Amino acid sequence: MINIVIFGAPGSGKGTQSDKIVDKYGFKHISTGDVLREEIKKGTPLGATAKQYIDQGQLIPDSLMVDILASVYDSLCPCEGVIFDGFPRTIAQAESLEALLQERGSQVSAMIDLDVPDALLVERLVNRGKTSGRADDNEATIMKRLDVYYKQTAPLIEWYKNEGKYRHVHGVGEIDQIFTDICAVIDKL
Ligand code: AMP
Repeated sequence: MINIVIFGAPGSGKGTQSDKIVDKYGFKHISTGDVLREEIKKGTPLGATAKQYIDQGQLIPDSLMVDILASVYDSLCPCEGVIFDGFPRTIAQAESLEALLQERGSQVSAMIDLDVPDALLVERLVNRGKTSGRADDNEATIMKRLDVYYKQTAPLIEWYKNEGKYRHVHGVGEIDQIFTDICAVIDKL
């Protein structure tokens, strides 16, 4: 079983590339952001809690996020492959993911880092905000999310390098070219 962490700052193209991976490889896609937005839409207590953090550009607490991830994972798997999109976002989450997969006789196969310069991330997110309807795609929250990314999430690059699972992909240019580079990584797993 293949478990891929698709990694990168907000606006790096994780969702777009995940959709293409799903189409080509038939893997399951777990986007924790999508899961939370669905809970908000349904008006659940979890959604109400999540909204408070999302609207501020802050991360949902690890303990809550790990429980959500485990239940979504178990609802989809065992399966051929999974793409984790937007999880892990902290070292504590990465450690929990490792433990969760180990308990199920599996492990992370690779972490693919979609590397995109800040100026382009902001431009993409501001543009996305015009049509996405996402409350967090406004300039003030975007800057907060990038700050949270560099402080809490980017340390995972070193963490996965230490695990020997880090794979760098240049996330600028044509969507199809970036996808070709991602496929080259997946096809070697
Ligand atoms: P995303 O759609 O991945 O950009 O996530 C949108 C928002 O959902 C983030 O800014 C966080 O507030 C929250 N979120 C999504 N995934 C996580 C996670 N793994 N840990 C904590 N918060 C998360």
